[in-house]
Amino acid sequence: MDGSVRRREESEVGNGNGNGVVSPNRALYSDRRLRLNPNTDHKPDNYEDLKLDFSPSIFSSLERYLPPSMLGGSRDAKLQFMQEILSRYLPEGERTRVQRHREYREKIISHYQPLHVELYTMHPASFFIPSFIKAVSGNTEESFRSIISEPSPGVYTFPMLQPSFCELLLSEVENFEKWVDMSKFRIMRPNTMNKYGAVLDDFGLEAMLDKLMEEFICPISKVFYPEVGGSSLDSHHGFVVEYGQNRDVDVGFHVDDSEVTLNVCLGKQFSGGELFFRGTRCDKHVNSETQPEEMLDYSHIPGQAVLHRGRHRHGARPTTSGHRVNLLLWCRSSVFRELKKYQKDFSSWCGECQREKKERQRQAVAATKLELLRREGQSMT
Ligand SMILES: [Zn+2]
Repeated sequence: MDGSVRRREESEVGNGNGNGVVSPNRALYSDRRLRLNPNTDHKPDNYEDLKLDFSPSIFSSLERYLPPSMLGGSRDAKLQFMQEILSRYLPEGERTRVQRHREYREKIISHYQPLHVELYTMHPASFFIPSFIKAVSGNTEESFRSIISEPSPGVYTFPMLQPSFCELLLSEVENFEKWVDMSKFRIMRPNTMNKYGAVLDDFGLEAMLDKLMEEFICPISKVFYPEVGGSSLDSHHGFVVEYGQNRDVDVGFHVDDSEVTLNVCLGKQFSGGELFFRGTRCDKHVNSETQPEEMLDYSHIPGQAVLHRGRHRHGARPTTSGHRVNLLLWCRSSVFRELKKYQKDFSSWCGECQREKKERQRQAVAATKLELLRREGQSMT
């Protein structure tokens, strides 16, 4: 560990600047503004059949904020108006990147022949163990706590996946990698820190993983991580990482590009590879000291999940023998990311912001006491 935390990012280019292109429709709608509060009675159109720069669900949710006069209009008119608004959030460079990535994905999906088609749609009863399904359908903190342990504040572990599901997924990933080798297709690795592993979303598992996030992770993160957008998760990055001989050995101290991370060991036989945690930090405090109570070492058990905040600093120790594969789901909240831009104090989740806040309070109390003593002293003379 070199003491400084790397931000583990996807292999993507960051945001560029807008190029100032003005659509001809801008003038047409320039006098119309979005409502402050959504019209909850309005039933939005469905945009799923269109190829858009943003997820179709974003258009459906944004539609509720359209000016009242537009709600009865055609889908095309609404779409144009919303695209105009959203384009300000997606500069040209970013749009090109999204388009290229879409083509990359389509190329893989049209050539790669899945081995286990049953993995590509969500089947809870064959994916998850019964206690996990029961806890999630209970949908209360109490039902979650019945299967969850919290070995350190903010780190939750629980048995989750069926051994048969782990085997199928391992074999699907192996099959995909065999195809990559044979076809000489150049794939993108999951992030800047892992040279091995594969992005599951890139070869057809995106829809299944979306369901996994929405129906099984969101209910839990809503209860345990509301302060980091746990109740508004709306996108994910799903991948596997592989450790062992001829694979990655370990991964250094870092934070994830996620609000909430699900990390599940799929197998196989291995020793070493423990996760170490060192407290949650905001951007400003990412390299600050670790308090003793924030130290946690966790040994992976196949089928068992670890859930933590993306900003919880962690790393993986060397896998000393065998072969270890883990499923990672980085869950993100666009709402949280937007709001974060306007905040300075993260004491609801950053250990260091919290420590500083307590210190300020302690000093304020001490100053007040001193002032009282001083006044008492004056009144005695
Ligand atoms: Zn902080």
